[in-house]
Amino acid sequence: MDLGISGRRAAVAAASKGLGYAAAAALAAAGAQVAVCSRNRAEIEAAAASLGPNAVPIVADVGTTDGASGFVADARTQLGGIDILVANAGGPPPGDFAAIEGTDAYARAFELNALSTIAMCQATVPQMQEQRWGRVVAITSIAVRQPIASLILSNTARAGLTGFLKTLAREVARDGVTVNSLQPGLHATERITSLYGDVTALGAAVPAGRIGDAAGFGAFVAFLCSESANYVTGTAIPVDGGADGGLQ
Ligand code: NAP
Repeated sequence: MDLGISGRRAAVAAASKGLGYAAAAALAAAGAQVAVCSRNRAEIEAAAASLGPNAVPIVADVGTTDGASGFVADARTQLGGIDILVANAGGPPPGDFAAIEGTDAYARAFELNALSTIAMCQATVPQMQEQRWGRVVAITSIAVRQPIASLILSNTARAGLTGFLKTLAREVARDGVTVNSLQPGLHATERITSLYGDVTALGAAVPAGRIGDAAGFGAFVAFLCSESANYVTGTAIPVDGGADGGLQ
C-alpha cells in the first residue's frame, strides 16, 4: 500500500528501540526521511544505520521540555522541515498511590509524558499549519482508558496529555494537520520486559491470545501519517488485542 508520504520529513522521538523504533522503521519503509532520537549515542546511531540512508540520529533527552524542543529543532535543521511528528518517550517508574510520596515524581512524569509532547507540538504544529499539511501521532498507553493500578504516574500524566491532544486536533483540523494518539496495550519491548519479566504468559489473558508485536504497531503509526488518513483526527485509538473491554 502506497502511504503517499514518500519524501515527507518525520521526527520520531525515543526511537532507538521498541515502539518508537518500529514507527520510524515503518515511516522509512514508506519513503519518509526520519530523524530519530534517544539518550544513548551508540544505540541511536545503530538504530539510524539500520533504518537506512534516509535516517539521521540525534542524541536528545525528551524527559525535559528543553530536551524535547531541542530534538525537534535539530530534526528540522537536519531534514529541512518537519511534516510528521511521532511524540514518544520512555515511561515513568511504576508505583501506586501509597508508594509515591509527595508530588515531585508526578511532576517528573508530567514533564516526561505530557509536557515534552506539548513542547514538541509547539515547536512543530505552527509550521505544519503554515504549510497546510502535518501529522502528529503520540504514543500514550491503554492506561488512558483503563488505569493500571501499579502505574499511577503514567495513568495521571497520559490522561492529561490526551485532553491536550484532542483540543489541539480540533483547533488545527482546518489547516490540514491531523493529531491522534495510539494507546498500546502489551507489546513485546524492553519496557514491558523490565516491568513484567517474561511476558509470553501474559498474552494468554489478552482476547487476541498474544501480546502485540512492535512492527504491527509501527505500521499503524505510519498509516495515521499517510495521505489516506487525512480525515482521521482527534482520535485516541487502542492497539491492545481487545484487552480494553469498554465501549469507547
Ligand atoms: P522501550 O522498549 O523501553 O523503548 C524506549 C525507547 O525510548 C528507547 O529507544 C529509549 O532509549 C528511548 N527513551 C526512553 N526515555 C527517553 C528519553 N527521556 N529521551 C529520549 N529517548 C528516550 O519502550 P516501549 O515499550 O517502546 O515504550 C514506548 C512508550 O510506550 C513508553 O512511554 C511506554 O510507557 C509506552 N507503552 C508501552 C507499552 C508496551 O507494551 N510496550 C504499553 C503501554 C505503553 P534510551 O533509553 O537510550 O534513551
